Order: sequence, then C-alpha cells, then structure tokens
Amino acid sequence: MTKARTDPSADPSQDAARPDPTIREVEPERPLVDVMNGKARWEIPVLDHGFVALVDVMPRLIPEGKTADTAVVQAARVSYGEGTKKVNEDRGLVRYLLRHRHTTPFEMIEFKFHVAMPIFVARQWIRHRTANVNEYSARYSIVPDRFYRPSVENVRRQSTTNRQGGDDSIEVGTAEEFIKLLEDSENLYSRYLELTEQGVAREMARAALPVSLYTEWYWKCDLHNLFHFLSLRMDPHAQQEIRVYADAMYDLIKPIVPVSAEAFEHYRLDGMFLTSLEVDALRENKPIDSDNKREQREWDEKRRRLGLD
Ligand SMILES: Cc1cc2nc3c(=O)[nH]c(=O)nc-3n(C[C@H](O)[C@H](O)[C@H](O)COP(=O)(O)OP(=O)(O)OC[C@H]3O[C@@H](n4cnc5c(N)ncnc54)[C@H](O)[C@@H]3O)c2cc1C
Repeated sequence: MTKARTDPSADPSQDAARPDPTIREVEPERPLVDVMNGKARWEIPVLDHGFVALVDVMPRLIPEGKTADTAVVQAARVSYGEGTKKVNEDRGLVRYLLRHRHTTPFEMIEFKFHVAMPIFVARQWIRHRTANVNEYSARYSIVPDRFYRPSVENVRRQSTTNRQGGDDSIEVGTAEEFIKLLEDSENLYSRYLELTEQGVAREMARAALPVSLYTEWYWKCDLHNLFHFLSLRMDPHAQQEIRVYADAMYDLIKPIVPVSAEAFEHYRLDGMFLTSLEVDALRENKPIDSDNKREQREWDEKRRRLGLD
C-alpha cells in the first residue's frame, strides 16, 4: 500500500535518492546489459521520406549472454531470477509456446517504435487495435512538406485477378502521368500554408492535403500482437507500401528476440494452414471438394508450395 507523504511540499524526484527501506532491492544474478547496446534509437529508412525507428524495448536490460526471449521463458515458468534450465531447454519452451498458441508469455515483451509513413499507409496500420498509438497532431502544428512519390518503375498496374492490389509495373508513359498527378496534389501544400497564415484553422486546412502526405506516430505493441501484425503485413497479400514497413520492423526486432523470431518464421510466417477440405483432398488424392474458384486457386497455390504440382 502507498504510504502517505508526511511533507506535502517535498520534491518527489528526490525520493529516488532515498529508497523506501521497506522495498527490498535484489541484485541481478549476472550483470545486466542493454538490448539496444546503449543506443537511443535503431532506425531504418523506408520509402522516400519515411522511417521506422525502434526507440525502446521491454525488457531493456537483460542478463549478460541472454536475449530478450528470456522474458518469455520467465513468464511461462512464472519464475524470478534466471532459473537453472539450459539454453536449449529455454529455446524448446519458446518454440512449444508459439507452436501451440500459448500466447500470453509473448505479451511480456514490448517494443516502442517511432514511425513516419504516408497517411494512406497509416490508415491500414491503425486497424491494428492492440497497439498504443500517439500521432503527430495536424490540429496543433503545421504539417511538414513531405509527400510519398513512387519511382516510375514502382507504379503498379491494377491486377485483374485480385481486386485489392497489383504487382506488375505499368507502362512508363502512364506511370509518368500518375506521378504528375501526385505532383499536382502536392502543389496544394503552398495554398494550405497561405490559408493557415490568413487564419484558417489548421484542423480544417489539413482537409485539403492528399493522403500521400507523411504523418508520424509512436506505436507500442507487445510481441504477441506484433507477430500478428507482421504475419498480416509482411504477407505478399499486403500492400507493398505497408509491407516495407513491416519488413523493417521485423529486421529491428529480430536481433533482440532471435529465438521467438525463428519460431515465428517456422510456425507462422513461412508455415501453412490446411483446411479440413484440403486435408481430405490431400489424403484421398482428389480435387478439393469446393466449387468456389478462389478456394480452388488457394489450394492450387498450397499444392505448388508443397511440391505436389
Ligand atoms: C491484405 C489485407 C486486406 C484488407 N482489406 C481490408 C478491406 O478491404 N477493408 C477493411 O475494412 N479492412 C481490411 N483489412 C483490415 C483487416 O480486416 C483487419 O481490420 C486488420 O488486418 C487488423 O486485423 P486484426 O483485427 O486481426 O488486428 P488487431 O486489431 O491487431 O487485433 C488482433 C486480434 O485481437 C483480437 N481483437 C482486437 N480487438 C478486438 C475486438 N474489439 N473484438 C474482438 N477481438 C478483437 C482479434 O482476435 C484480432 O485478430 C485488410 C487487411 C489485410 C491484411
């Protein structure tokens, strides 16, 4: 229970220098090291003006010679201290937990990112509700003049089989015309500035800016939910402009939780789920019992991955 302060005028920041004698401070069994090597941030540039920066991790300090995966093991065994298990037993436990969707131990690790991305990427990203987010306010501040513009060869053609996306490049002339359209929309920025200078509220003036404009946020998520985010957004079905952010985030966390990351790759990212219809088709070596064309295509794709066709 919190004790009442005897002197209400006392500076609380001085308490750190006078630890409460009822608090037992326990020394670590081994020296602790910083998982981010003492750096303020680890940053990867993304797209033309964006970035993903890892700015904090929990646990930030870990026993020398271990990785942050140790927090998963500690939570699963509900243990304090380092325990007596060997490294390969810890690895086996992490892999078992991930394989069997025993998820809460992975929630004990958290990552905080600072990200700059186009608004149309942020719109997809914000659908992931299990993170804590704080975004740059275009009500309080003038937004910086940064817009996403793909290179000519990165302008994609609308797919005819998949309504959501496109993978192939489009002919150069059409790509250039599209980039000119983006440029025209960027030119709205100078009018945005003029009108805010003439007194139009920033919260209204921003409505005239295109979704290629960059925004920024802090985004904090635990490892379980981050794996869920990554499995959806590193997937080839995700839009390329968000996929590059997910890939960068994965590159940042992988060296910090290498054991969990390897299990994630084996059992989620590069793994495969088979429906009961697919299991029957496989077992009985017959076509899938579905007249749905998309389901048939998905089964064909899995068969190819399994080397059956
Ligand atoms: C390729 C792709 C295409 C997409 N296309 C569209 C589209 O056309 N239109 C569109 O609107 N969206 C689209 N989405 C967004 C998608 O439908 C999800 O909203 C998004 O991927 C977030 O997924 P999630 O809810 O599982 O994640 P999170 O919000 O991170 O949630 C993680 C998990 O927590 C649980 N959870 C979180 N909140 C709740 C809650 N309130 N109630 C119950 N369970 C909860 C669920 O189990 C959920 O899976 C698309 C996503 C992808 C990857």
